[in-house]
Amino acid sequence: MWRPVCRKNIFYMKIVDLSKQNTILNRFLTEIRDKEIQKDQMRFRRNIERIGEIMAYEISKELPYNELKVKTQLGEAVHNVPTDKVVLATILRAGLPLHTGFHNYFDSAENAFVSAYREYTDDTHFEVKVEYLASPRIDGKYVLLVDTMLATGCSTDLCYRALLSKGTPAKLVIAAVIASQEAVDFVEKTFPEDTILYCAAIDPILNNHYYIVPGLGDAGDLCFGEKD
Ligand code: URA
Repeated sequence: MWRPVCRKNIFYMKIVDLSKQNTILNRFLTEIRDKEIQKDQMRFRRNIERIGEIMAYEISKELPYNELKVKTQLGEAVHNVPTDKVVLATILRAGLPLHTGFHNYFDSAENAFVSAYREYTDDTHFEVKVEYLASPRIDGKYVLLVDTMLATGCSTDLCYRALLSKGTPAKLVIAAVIASQEAVDFVEKTFPEDTILYCAAIDPILNNHYYIVPGLGDAGDLCFGEKD
């Protein structure tokens, strides 16, 4: 099992940027970023879902496994399978297609939903409001917190705190489709040191509006249309 790396008493969180490997994931990433292809809302959502499926597969390597015997028509087979103690926690609304992708693979997981939105006071200042939480108990479970765009890390932090009202997880894995370098640094400083962060890609900067650049735009609007 992976443990935090300790160098001279400084712990380094495990941070994975999946786009660094040459895989089919990079095709889906390119398509969700492409401002022409992203006009097709159904394709955009489906690509986020496909990215969720690939991330679920990669993150399954971080889970605890138990041996399971299965009777076949001809005998008995034994496989190591992940324990069922997984809670998929998703930040509404942009996280929904990503959640579906994870749920396609972790089909026996429990599910939690948290709402978070930015309330802007002017063009460059906002407060994150968390208003809704529907979650099972999370004590001793593996919480996979899936958040499509990890821009500042602020919503992820507030949503995680809201989830902690439901218990203490055995482990937190954060999964983001696109994260900014600033948010990655924030997660590393703020979250428990054994947290694991998986990103499909890490982008260099945020603009004045705290959107990720090059990023892809507003993921919620691209999935579900513009809001009032
Ligand atoms: N939310 C988004 O949808 N996009 C960003 O770039 C940042 C936050």
